[in-house]
Amino acid sequence: MAQPDSKKIFFENLSGAGKAIAVLTSGGDAQGMNAAVRAVVRMGIYVGAKVYFIREGYQGMVDGGDNIKEASWESVSSMLQVGGTVIGSARCKEFRSHEGRLKAAHNLVQRGITNLCVIGGDGSLTGANLFREEWSGLLGELVQQDLIDADAAQRYSALHIVGMVGSIDNDFCGTDMTIGTDSALHRIIEVVDAIMTTAQSHQRTFVLEVMGRHCGYLALVSALACGADWVLIPEMPPEDGWEDKMCQKLSANRAGMKRLNIIIVAEGAIDHNNKPITTDYVKNLVVKCLGFDTRVTILGHVQRGGTPSAFDRILASRMGVEAVLALLETTANTPACVVSLSGNQSVRLPLMECVQMTQEVQKAMDEKKFEDAVKLRGRSFENNLRTYKLLAHRKPESELPSSNFNVAVLNVGAPAAGMNAAVRSAVRVGISEGHKMFAVNDGFEGFYKGQIKEIKWADVGGWTGQGGSLLGTKRTLPAKHVDKIAEQMRQHNINALLVIGGFETCDRIKQSASGTKRRVFIIETMGGYCGYLASVGGLAAGADAAYIYEEPFDIRDLQANVEHLTEKMKTSIQRGLVLRNENSNENYTTDFIYQLYSEEGKGVFDCRKNVLGHMQQGGAPSPFDRNFGTKISAKAMQWVSKKLVETFRQGRVFANTEDSCCLLGMRRRALVFQPVVQLKEETDFVHRIPKEQWWLKLRPLMKILAKYKTSYDVSDSGQLEHVVRNRPKESDASAAM
Ligand code: ADP
Repeated sequence: MAQPDSKKIFFENLSGAGKAIAVLTSGGDAQGMNAAVRAVVRMGIYVGAKVYFIREGYQGMVDGGDNIKEASWESVSSMLQVGGTVIGSARCKEFRSHEGRLKAAHNLVQRGITNLCVIGGDGSLTGANLFREEWSGLLGELVQQDLIDADAAQRYSALHIVGMVGSIDNDFCGTDMTIGTDSALHRIIEVVDAIMTTAQSHQRTFVLEVMGRHCGYLALVSALACGADWVLIPEMPPEDGWEDKMCQKLSANRAGMKRLNIIIVAEGAIDHNNKPITTDYVKNLVVKCLGFDTRVTILGHVQRGGTPSAFDRILASRMGVEAVLALLETTANTPACVVSLSGNQSVRLPLMECVQMTQEVQKAMDEKKFEDAVKLRGRSFENNLRTYKLLAHRKPESELPSSNFNVAVLNVGAPAAGMNAAVRSAVRVGISEGHKMFAVNDGFEGFYKGQIKEIKWADVGGWTGQGGSLLGTKRTLPAKHVDKIAEQMRQHNINALLVIGGFETCDRIKQSASGTKRRVFIIETMGGYCGYLASVGGLAAGADAAYIYEEPFDIRDLQANVEHLTEKMKTSIQRGLVLRNENSNENYTTDFIYQLYSEEGKGVFDCRKNVLGHMQQGGAPSPFDRNFGTKISAKAMQWVSKKLVETFRQGRVFANTEDSCCLLGMRRRALVFQPVVQLKEETDFVHRIPKEQWWLKLRPLMKILAKYKTSYDVSDSGQLEHVVRNRPKESDASAAM
């Protein structure tokens, strides 16, 4: 939804002068909470507000004293990459009582704090909302008890609240992702990948319990991301007789040369009568029915641990900045809001509506209305479920429809983690829809040489977790060989092509800051002319600068950055991180920048440089890429099927309209099929990048969080959205996990 121009405000106009903001983390900890705290503190200070930490969640607010301390810019240094929550979290019984909240209010008023950023789950946010509603009553009581004067009660008469959801379970309605979920998925996938190798060696079955007492998100997405044989989640209890079906499937998979089985069970998995399904029950079942060597692994707190993923750091940083903006714009009459993610956009939603919907999911499950529960979880969850069902359950050949269409799949461009997941998904969805699927090896080069053959369901088993491109990929453009390619298409009677690849590939990278002093790291990232990795990696790593082609820079910028770093070395943060995209400037090379910084920094800091190179394309795909690859490809294949049917006349497929060649990609909140002809106008072919890059607007965030003065276009952020239920149809944010 485009905002009218009048909303195009730059936040230089928004001032936090005279305001005091407090930030706290509450309830269960989650990776990425620190990134959110850091962003709130720095953005708060940036706009001129005073920012306070409240340690130990609501307990610190009730206890006051040293638990509430003013934060400085430096005090949040080096916490971006740390898991858990540095400022502490707790469950607090006292805050549930009126007396507890009265004490908390007193502690806030004494410090002039009327803005509160709460990072926690639905319990914490419910508490925050209640506190806000009671606020003026509480101040009245404090006046009566002579604890504050009437003047203070008047001055601090309204409490503004903004919430951010920190929870590894992704159990909150209204946001596609909660802070911590992606990191938890990373932990789960690491374990599953590790277990797969041992399971493979011994032909074992593993039953894996993952967290989620009320929400099956982690289990479902892990199952998608590792191609599990079976998944049990609370929102979708298995049908009666599932035990036999599951055993049949496991033994069929074994017969098909699969040496291992993975069954994922959510902590809160239940059957149709709301009776828990335990991992032991599942294990005993497999042992009894099939006699398979079966082991149980319960992941437990491993899932909460470890460093936050790049996704969580970026998500939390964006949310934190947005939360401060929300507080600046809040008036006494705006309801408390929660900052959330829709597709790739941050939005604000009324807090209580989201909390209520979240609670309704539980109610629906308690009342055995499971379909409602899945719907209430949101479109993204439904889509995950649909995709899982589509890919995991193979229909017997006799039950498959026959479309008489042949579809070929190929990879082009550089290999990217997630490509194989996409191919697997396309092949299986295509087969389910009755097509004969063909795989082309080595991109268009292989195509014109005739490297094409039929690919079956079982051929793509186990592909989701593998890095690189199993089909083989080349950068060769089709243009020179169009005739030969056409000939191959004729020979194999190919009706449609699904091409997975791109100009340059974009995975996310992680950078970890190090403990050294007075040192500036200069890191070169890949991406051709596309500065996404440098920019977004910079945001995730808390970089001081990221040089990219899209935002031209000159010697004055380099000088300003060197001076900035020199200043920084005077503070307690004596470290610097600078990213440089490989093609950002042909003369200001990584070596040049390294030498310039080394010379100018003499006596103040020294430099190290590192060219990341092909490491960035390697490795196992992240859960995001596996899931994104799987879902986007399933969607593409379904679209291809629809178009084939629509354009089929007298035994032929007519591919003569604009949309017979489309690119599927995420735009803001939606997955959009865009005719390539239209894309032509939006593409800079020389540099192999789009003319407009959505992520450019994230760049100011990195600068602000690194203490540069800059302007930030807030036209996209903000405005409180309406009721969650009425989200517009196109907001199918299915691409967000
Ligand atoms: P989460 O925020 O992760 O859902 P909890 O439900 O345990 O975790 O809530 C964390 C804390 O938030 C509680 O210990 C309590 O201090 C506060 N809280 C939760 N629910 C309420 C409520 N209804 N009223 C007041 N405070 C609450």
